[in-house]
Amino acid sequence: MKKIGVLALQGAFVEHIALLNHLKVEAVPIRLPQELRGLDGLIIPGGESTTIARLMKEYDLMAPVRELALDGFPIMGTCAGMVLLAKNVSGINSETLEAMDIGVKRNAFGRQVDSFETDLEIPAIGEPHFHAVFIRAPHIEQAGDGVEVLAQLPNGVGVAARQGKMVALAFHPELTSDLRLHAYFMSIVHGER
Ligand code: GLN
Repeated sequence: MKKIGVLALQGAFVEHIALLNHLKVEAVPIRLPQELRGLDGLIIPGGESTTIARLMKEYDLMAPVRELALDGFPIMGTCAGMVLLAKNVSGINSETLEAMDIGVKRNAFGRQVDSFETDLEIPAIGEPHFHAVFIRAPHIEQAGDGVEVLAQLPNGVGVAARQGKMVALAFHPELTSDLRLHAYFMSIVHGER
């Protein structure tokens, strides 16, 4: 059985753990560097990227997680987790993992429409469209050559991407009961994709 860590410093980690459990995956909260040992994958949840970044520094998690990412370890980041995975972020002063070759804009949808839901076409998981919940979400401004953009809004803005074994989602799959994106991540963990 695979064991997935969910970074549990701040944000929506409980929901990710519950969703992984639905998939019969062992999921454990991660707060300390030594807890990273023996994992098969890691999820960085949504929350406040500046707070998560600060706590990752404080708890000595920034360097070891960055090392895992550079070693090709499976990591999925959702919303604030996408911000933390990105190489370039506009709208943040905090250090990020700089693991994925994407440029991300924080709080990209502004104050007027800071939260919305929409049905996204995601070819990697097939039909039906995925009901995506965006909460003060980032979007992808630029993606490097090694990055596969997995989903776009109708205006062409990227909101999901994969590079190697890393997956970044601008929205919150853990707030719905659709397990397909977590299953997609698990297929990467299993080396099936
Ligand atoms: N706006 C938050 C940030 O950039 C992300 C919001 C979220 O994770 N729902 O940190």
